[in-house]
Amino acid sequence: MQDNPVPLFDLKRQYSKIREEVRAAFDEVLDSQMMIGGAKVAEIEEKIAKYLNVKAAVAVSSGTDALLAALMAKGIYRSPLDTDNAGEVIVPAFTFFATAGCVWRAGAVPVFADIEEDSFNMSAESLEKAITPRTKAIMPVHLFGQCANMDAIMEVANRHGIPVIEDCAQAIGASRKGVKAGAFGLCGCLSFFPTKNLGGFGDGGMVVTNDESFAEEVARVRNHGMQPKYFHRSVGGNFRLDALQAAGLLKKLPHLDSWHEARRANAAFYDAAFACEPKILTPKIARENYSVYNQYVVRVPNRDKCLQELRARGVNCEIYYPLPLHKQECFAKLGYKDGDFPVAERVAADCMALPIFPELEKSELEKVARELKAVVSGM
Ligand SMILES: *Cc1c(COP(=O)(O)O)cnc(C)c1O
Repeated sequence: MQDNPVPLFDLKRQYSKIREEVRAAFDEVLDSQMMIGGAKVAEIEEKIAKYLNVKAAVAVSSGTDALLAALMAKGIYRSPLDTDNAGEVIVPAFTFFATAGCVWRAGAVPVFADIEEDSFNMSAESLEKAITPRTKAIMPVHLFGQCANMDAIMEVANRHGIPVIEDCAQAIGASRKGVKAGAFGLCGCLSFFPTKNLGGFGDGGMVVTNDESFAEEVARVRNHGMQPKYFHRSVGGNFRLDALQAAGLLKKLPHLDSWHEARRANAAFYDAAFACEPKILTPKIARENYSVYNQYVVRVPNRDKCLQELRARGVNCEIYYPLPLHKQECFAKLGYKDGDFPVAERVAADCMALPIFPELEKSELEKVARELKAVVSGM
């Protein structure tokens, strides 16, 4: 008899535990008919700023818009009257597309840096090589829930006087030496996409910062650059968060630390299960880091075949990410070529994410470990 496949994630399990309180919170917003901004949005901003130990937070419409709004608030934005682009922004070659897509949309040139083999995060050495007189910002990503090497990255950035915008979409609550992601640079950008560690009931995001005047700029950009009402010093967008999203997030936030711990326990189970399997490279977390494991990404030989066989055996897995950004078709005109970022290229070729969500059952973890071991033994 075939048992049920193990899902990559199953949001229904989490929702079933908080269903009644979420529905009551939604009803409260619906009865108020204050659908955009308002008290719930202010409350989630305050609570997340406190959670991350930063001075200010500005809720926005998505993680992607958080990145774009942060760039625009820093003045990295090409107007139609500009003859030149808005400068260069350095991003890792291996990350979700939005990191570089936002730079492009702001009218700046994404400049790629390679990653570290161990952490999958931006290499400070490669970053330093990418800096030019036109560099306007550096955007490290805390990929899969682990902080990038922010000591080294901030040292390079500070020495060159370049602002750092952290992409924390996968890393809310992750920390390094006790400092939470988003509190190292000028600002951090969060995503509340449903499969992130703190997922909303739709799209949402946030910019967090210790610079209160920068927070005011982000808040202005969020609402068409308007300040005061109907007066526009610069052009912004509609990057506002719905009150319904804020109300849902407020019900989830109190559980976030226990969900992180459940993900970490699942990761520890896999680490132990694969410790004696030289063909399975498990994620390496630096001793000074607290990872929140948005993803658990292993590296395996013959990855595509592995993935296919694992799925056939009832384990759902996924590739984050199959093609580094410097090789994406939309960036072809930037002129990068094969071999420019060898680590990013190697990782993209052999990485694979296993189910890691907090509500996984013991029997499911065991099945994932058993089947992956069986599959790689034949590779
Ligand atoms: C999810 C994600 C984003 C974008 O967030 P959205 O809320 O989906 O717009 C940006 N960067 C990274 C690294 C992400 O994982």
